[in-house]
Amino acid sequence: MSDKGHLGLLNLHCQDYHIDAFGQVVSLSALTRLAANASTAYQHIAPAKVTGVEQHRDNVDVLLDSGDVITTKLLILADGGRSGLAERVGIAKTVSDYHQTAIVFNVHTQMPHENKAYERFTDSGPLAFLPFDSEINGVKANGNGFSVVWTLETQAAKALMEMDKASFINALQQAFGYRQGKILRVSDTASYPLALTKAQQVTSHRTVVVGNAAQALHPIAGQGFNLGLRDLSALVSVLKSAVSQRSMSPRFEAR
Ligand SMILES: Cc1cc2nc3c(=O)[nH]c(=O)nc-3n(C[C@H](O)[C@H](O)[C@H](O)COP(=O)(O)OP(=O)(O)OC[C@H]3O[C@@H](n4cnc5c(N)ncnc54)[C@H](O)[C@@H]3O)c2cc1C
Repeated sequence: MSDKGHLGLLNLHCQDYHIDAFGQVVSLSALTRLAANASTAYQHIAPAKVTGVEQHRDNVDVLLDSGDVITTKLLILADGGRSGLAERVGIAKTVSDYHQTAIVFNVHTQMPHENKAYERFTDSGPLAFLPFDSEINGVKANGNGFSVVWTLETQAAKALMEMDKASFINALQQAFGYRQGKILRVSDTASYPLALTKAQQVTSHRTVVVGNAAQALHPIAGQGFNLGLRDLSALVSVLKSAVSQRSMSPRFEAR
């Protein structure tokens, strides 16, 4: 961890904490494959968009853009929180805009990462380099790839996104420095406007919100996905024990 323009540096080693790693970078496609192979008990319908939700006394109807309607006893809404579906079932949210945007992309660097992750604090926002070997323009990283999350004030992020590749690499190199040598390659970028969001309640009639639909926070914590897993684990355990009691809502809220 370092603070651009200031003396000092903090090095943390997982061995000192008697653990194998502080964390892992996992690609979404690998996770999706894992989930798809984990069970044949569910049906994956894609592409599809949920256009509406209708709550009835004994079930919930989920309306798809194809015109199909799926009827379920319990709807678990894991839509990331931007579709407006939660609001339509009466779940209000408090939103506090960070006025920051995260730019996400992969890079290859001159020097190997040796499984080191960097968090660099700059005047314009934090910059994270996380070891992750990807392919960029047909070139596979060989122990020298990183997944980068660059958080900036929204106007500054817009200006960066409009730059040509060479200028972008130059700006990134300025912000990150040369601890990994030269930045050789940068993938295409994606950007995410950031806001602290919290659902005021996580249940509505026969409906539960989980993951970012329930809470979204600044990526600097690296916790959003993990909180989603926590939600699911809590939901599964509440559902298991509530089967006989026919009441789960207050207990899931409590967790
Ligand atoms: C830059 C950045 C870095 C991050 N880094 C970390 C990290 O290091 N560790 C960590 O734990 N978390 C991290 N997070 C947070 C993490 O990415 C999120 O918390 C997580 O992706 C939330 O998962 P989700 O399934 O709830 O929502 P999403 O990932 O948003 O998925 C929701 C899905 O629902 C789909 N959808 C939405 N509306 C509809 C509709 N009407 N019909 C059909 N489908 C719909 C969307 O297309 C999407 O596929 C980071 C986030 C950002 C932005």
